[in-house]
Amino acid sequence: MGILDKLERKLYKKRVPMAVTIEVTKRCNLDCIHCYVDHEDLDVELSIKDFKGVIDQLYDLGVIIIVLSGGELFYKKGIWELMEYIRFKKMGLKIITAATLLNKSDADRLKDLGILEVGISIYSHKAEVHDFITRKEGSFKKTLEMATYLREIGVLVVSKTLIMNLNYKDIIDVYNMSVERGIIPQFDMSISDAQNDARDPKQFSLTSEQIVELYQNKEVREILYNTKSFEDTYCKPKYEYQDEDERCNIGRTAMWINAKGEVFPCIQFQYPVGDLKIDSLKDIWYNNPKIDKVLEMAKYKNYKACHNCEAVKYCSPCIALTVRENRTDCNTTNHKEAFAIKKVFEELDAKKENLDLSSLSDYLTK
Ligand code: SF4
Ligand code: SF4
Repeated sequence: MGILDKLERKLYKKRVPMAVTIEVTKRCNLDCIHCYVDHEDLDVELSIKDFKGVIDQLYDLGVIIIVLSGGELFYKKGIWELMEYIRFKKMGLKIITAATLLNKSDADRLKDLGILEVGISIYSHKAEVHDFITRKEGSFKKTLEMATYLREIGVLVVSKTLIMNLNYKDIIDVYNMSVERGIIPQFDMSISDAQNDARDPKQFSLTSEQIVELYQNKEVREILYNTKSFEDTYCKPKYEYQDEDERCNIGRTAMWINAKGEVFPCIQFQYPVGDLKIDSLKDIWYNNPKIDKVLEMAKYKNYKACHNCEAVKYCSPCIALTVRENRTDCNTTNHKEAFAIKKVFEELDAKKENLDLSSLSDYLTK
């Protein structure tokens, strides 16, 4: 076991998140068609001074890496001061941005800060598709230019591609475009529900037939399995478990803080477990019946619908998605994806064309 794995295990046991994502603002210069952010309460966002206090509390908790996101984080006045403060505390810094507000000297400044990773949303290799999704003409050119420049100066860049019914045919080209530039591609199919009723991002979800179409393509299948997905890196789903084990990192090493200072047990879970304007982070995380309830919910024994589900080995069940649908059993996103993958793998098994791996979980856990 490597040093990082050992550290991660230690933090897991103590329920200390290794990395915490902070939404520093809900404001954004783009208007992505699938955006889940509610863009409400813009006047009650924490100030940079408040966020510095949050960083101090995260530092005291033992958190090692801070991931800043938005909205568009570069829309936040004083964001450079916050990033410098994080580095001053000797914490690792990652950001998620569309990069359209950056110029080359900003990119140089990020490198000088010793940034660990810049995650950039890239929806297609075609400008017209990307710009249609961001609803901002010229955004593809700006985003790709900045992603390419950041790589040229030696910054680690991850392209984050949400696969929707608008761009699912572009996976191979996006993969190649990223790899050619030294950018690490990452794909994800889970479209989040909107934070309010004004939007309906789920209308852009893939149908079962489209998921089957993707997995039937050997090249796409290999790309999807060989690029780390959101679930692999953040949720860390477990495939071997006892009844008392939690199925994922919710409430343990996954933590999300929104622009208002509300704390969530993971980025998909829509109910806050506390408010940093009122309580300390230590009390919210360690002295809180709400968190206890989330941890109890996350135990394998409580995923009752999954116990006898035919598709369980093709699924990363997400309790947050189930709660979002006001259900206690399965959810439509997991169900659709798991059964589509199962169908393809059974067809491949029948034709003896499966990849040289015994099961999907081998892929997902490697
Ligand atoms: S498809 Fe639904 S019931 Fe089956 S394993 Fe996934 S979340 Fe559980
Ligand atoms: S509840 Fe879902 S999004 Fe949250 S950590 Fe678990 S699998 Fe990931």
